[in-house]
Amino acid sequence: MPKLFIPGPVHVSEKTFRAFCKPMIGHRSGDFKKLYGGIQPRLKELFQTEQPVFLSTSSAWGVMEGAVRNLVGAGKVLNCMCGAFSDKWLDVSKRCGKEAVALQVEWGQPIRGEALRAALGAGGFDAVTLIHNETSTGVMSDIREIAAVMREFPDVCLVVDTVSSFSVVPIPMDELGIDVLLTGSQKALAMPPGLALFAASRKAMDRAAKVAGRGYYFDFVEFAKNQAEDMTPSTPSISHIYALESKLDDIFTEGVATRHARHAENNAIVHEWVRGHGLDFFAPEGFRSKSLTCVANNKGIDVAELAKRVKERGFVMDQGYGKLKGKTFRISNMGDETPATMREYLAALDASLA
Ligand SMILES: *Cc1c(COP(=O)(O)O)cnc(C)c1O
Repeated sequence: MPKLFIPGPVHVSEKTFRAFCKPMIGHRSGDFKKLYGGIQPRLKELFQTEQPVFLSTSSAWGVMEGAVRNLVGAGKVLNCMCGAFSDKWLDVSKRCGKEAVALQVEWGQPIRGEALRAALGAGGFDAVTLIHNETSTGVMSDIREIAAVMREFPDVCLVVDTVSSFSVVPIPMDELGIDVLLTGSQKALAMPPGLALFAASRKAMDRAAKVAGRGYYFDFVEFAKNQAEDMTPSTPSISHIYALESKLDDIFTEGVATRHARHAENNAIVHEWVRGHGLDFFAPEGFRSKSLTCVANNKGIDVAELAKRVKERGFVMDQGYGKLKGKTFRISNMGDETPATMREYLAALDASLA
């Protein structure tokens, strides 16, 4: 099978797959509670929170929708939009029957604190949704700048999607006052798709308790009730939890700071490659993702042809997301990649370009 270098799902290691395939256990058994409770301290450390970390058997969208259903009552939700995933959150909020307001910036641009402040100034908001690292455009917004503005609006909850930035850069949930921090399994964490991880602040949990129409599957109150006994509301993907335990071993053996540094180094290698080929970045300086690079195709490369050749060399290449297809292409450096494996992939790109 060709190795994935697309920005999700990303390549899954043999070790993670071996953990994924461990024998099944009952989800109300002592063995399960030991597994679930056992990974909590490390999950909290990674989330940089005192709150429990919930595991949802769904892709990230389950929790993204769930956050809207739990935190937005009669008030409005402000959806910060700067790419495919963040734009979609407006649509999802509306489908949940919420009054959703768009804070739209051009694809390729970040969400800025000033624009957020101006939008929230209208009043009447229950929550803000933000995608920290917009995977479709390779833009990383400044989470500290956003969090600082949110402090001026203490009644509004901040929901942050870190699907492609979690464990790539520090995102101190409690320190920044993030109310819901969520991520998925198949991108930055390099696990198979199908699991979402999230934590909710006290403020978020108090709000959820008062909001009607939370449903069942993504009800934060249900998650908290079951968490108290090291369980999930319904039968979880136990295989994913085994894989997560194995991944946490990897992360803490490497060290979180070393992991961040490795991603920065991987990312710098890609940036050097982009500059060396006279290519442009789709994202502006200062707001470029550390987990992937969205390359602007200013050289008129036949991206589809390039991807075909790259595949013959054993790699799957991204060809740009949605309306950016062919105009951009993205290079992921998420998960377990190292400077050596990044160079291997870039060499395959070079050979295919020649
Ligand atoms: C991939 C992605 C999602 C959606 O994840 P699913 O696993 O498909 O639900 C959401 N947000 C970001 C930033 C992503 O990159």
